[in-house]
Amino acid sequence: MINNRKIAIKRIKYLYKKSLEVFDKDPDLSRRYIKILLEIKRKANIKLIRELRNKFCKKCYTVWIPGKTLSIRVRRGKVIYKCLNCGYVKRFKIR
Ligand SMILES: [Zn+2]
Repeated sequence: MINNRKIAIKRIKYLYKKSLEVFDKDPDLSRRYIKILLEIKRKANIKLIRELRNKFCKKCYTVWIPGKTLSIRVRRGKVIYKCLNCGYVKRFKIR
């Protein structure tokens, strides 16, 4: 089981990297990688590793590249992430 989890994380990291790599050439393929990534995550029943949190849009699966597919603003002690593809907004408190 521990091994499976390790493999899943490895795959997830790889898929994230690929999704970034192909985004400029093929955004649809990039989104497909994110979809597969989430599928693996769901099947392996693991939480997303910290370094991959808030790295893509869970609504439209667009990988988030600040200034390109993501706008980041800070307002009243909160960070506001906005997906520039679908408009999904995510807010978090600044710690
Ligand atoms: Zn989106």
